[in-house]
Amino acid sequence: MTGFEIEIIFFLELNDFLPQSKREKSIRLSQKMSRSIKDLIESMGIPHTEVGNIKLDGVPVDSSQVVSKPVRIEVYPFSIKDFRSADHLHPNEIKFLGDVHLGSLVRKLRLLGLDTVYSNKWTDLELASISAKEDRMLLTRDRHLLMRKIIKKGLYIRSTDPEMQVSEVLSRLQLRDICKPFTRCLLCNGLLISLDENTDLFQSNREKIPPKVQAWCRNYSICRLCGKIYWKGSHFTKLQAMVNVYLA
Ligand SMILES: [Zn+2]
Repeated sequence: MTGFEIEIIFFLELNDFLPQSKREKSIRLSQKMSRSIKDLIESMGIPHTEVGNIKLDGVPVDSSQVVSKPVRIEVYPFSIKDFRSADHLHPNEIKFLGDVHLGSLVRKLRLLGLDTVYSNKWTDLELASISAKEDRMLLTRDRHLLMRKIIKKGLYIRSTDPEMQVSEVLSRLQLRDICKPFTRCLLCNGLLISLDENTDLFQSNREKIPPKVQAWCRNYSICRLCGKIYWKGSHFTKLQAMVNVYLA
């Protein structure tokens, strides 16, 4: 087969993955053999999970489409609207999975009430398989991990700063309106329920609460999974301030 040349252009956030010299412009690539558009895109360092609509000479196509002659390809990032409607997904049902190096981001997402599982012991293989099995969006700074075929939902986290990372997730996925702060356990992701002082559950957990706190506090909640008890102590004001900044 003789070689051919294709023209490819990436739009919006997808340019973050390209070297400066290739951003926002048509890139010409010499090809020696047929290959799928997915292969082509990933060979340029862009994980398939970041990609939305693709057009081949102006016509919408799937990323599995094989290219074997000169064409022009336009690649757009996934839009959260398409993503939700494709799955008929209510925003409250978006579930996450944090890569091992994103512990700080994970705690902040839980603080905002977003369902986010995490372990600093999970291998890449485990992360990929949990993401696929539980239909969780994998959050990671490892773009090669996102290129694994079984991962259908993933988000490459651009920033290294946890505060910026939260903002990235909330903005890209338009989650600010659906966050329910202080409804999840920061330690284990379990849902919190309110803990009434007149219940057996309270009595059996009483020793976990310092007497100094019991003297003034009348409102507690408890994690349904791990049993950790939360109350609005001095740290609460700090957390509330953080939440206000994230959701502003
Ligand atoms: Zn818990």
